[in-house]
Amino acid sequence: MDKITIIVPCYNEQEVIEKFYTEVSRVLHEVPGCEFTYLFVNDGSRDNTLTMLQDLSSREEAVNYLSLSRNFGKEAAMMAGLDHAEGDAVIIMDADLQHPPELIPEMIDWWHKGYDDVCAKRTDRDDETWFKRNMANLFYRALQAVSRFRVQRDVGDFRLLDKRCVAALRLMRENQRFTKGMFTWVGYRKKEIPFHVGKRAAGTTTWSYWALYNLAVEGITSFTTAPLRLTTILGLGVSGLAMIFMCWVLFNALCYGDPVAGYPTMMTVILFLGGVQLLSLGIIGEYLGRVFTESKGRPVYLIDEHNGKKMIYGSRAEWLPHERD
Ligand code: UDP
Ligand code: MG
Repeated sequence: MDKITIIVPCYNEQEVIEKFYTEVSRVLHEVPGCEFTYLFVNDGSRDNTLTMLQDLSSREEAVNYLSLSRNFGKEAAMMAGLDHAEGDAVIIMDADLQHPPELIPEMIDWWHKGYDDVCAKRTDRDDETWFKRNMANLFYRALQAVSRFRVQRDVGDFRLLDKRCVAALRLMRENQRFTKGMFTWVGYRKKEIPFHVGKRAAGTTTWSYWALYNLAVEGITSFTTAPLRLTTILGLGVSGLAMIFMCWVLFNALCYGDPVAGYPTMMTVILFLGGVQLLSLGIIGEYLGRVFTESKGRPVYLIDEHNGKKMIYGSRAEWLPHERD
């Protein structure tokens, strides 16, 4: 009997939780040879998600839940789930039924064939706006161009992970988490299976454009220092151009006595250089800010309650690797 934990991060999902559970358990009933447990992670929801989870777990033996002390974000919620999951594999799913449970039997098949990380790859982005689609495209290209390993394209968090991957991910305690890249970083055998992203069963997406921008910056800064190198190159380039310009001005002044019209040229150069400097400072700042946050070494999440039991903090962050398994 393989034991598999379904990890479900939930933030304000009161409308979908019951539906999610019924749909998923209906599919899972038909999977032979596996024992499933659910681990819902309530990520500081402001609606009745927690009450619904308490109710569900008192009715259903297979349902466990964690409740974080506030909203820490999906990445942290997933980490809490990974830390507390048990069994031979985990499956991470969104609560809103955008991840079709019908894919789970296929994932398990591939896992049995020896893959450690079976992820669902979205075949289309039709539900998204033109702008969002193209920005996503640009982001993947930029990230792949500059980082040493290939971050998987169009794969989300819907995936089955073998316990080896889970153990590896538990070692990565960084506060600023770009989980998508971390899945790639840990390696192991990966299999992508195509799927079609459904519409949200109810509620609204919590991802604003601003949040997506932040995620993109997160993705780049947490996996590559290429932007820093870019500023060096930019600096070299601008200095080179300035040098040529200076020679031209000197040449003109000495040979033709041309004083070179002052104001427009000066303004252009000053503004251009100011822009380049601010941009470079900003890039350095992004990295410095991350060093600052990480250096505080705070836990990624705090747990308020685990299956009805009040926790003191409940994070396993303090655990040494060898104590974890
Ligand atoms: N989620 C979470 N914490 C957050 C935001 C979202 O745990 O701060 C959960 C949410 O409940 C859902 C999943 O992450 O199960 C995906 O969120 P959403 O559907 O809003 O994102 P999208 O599908 O638009 O990418
Ligand atoms: Mg969703």
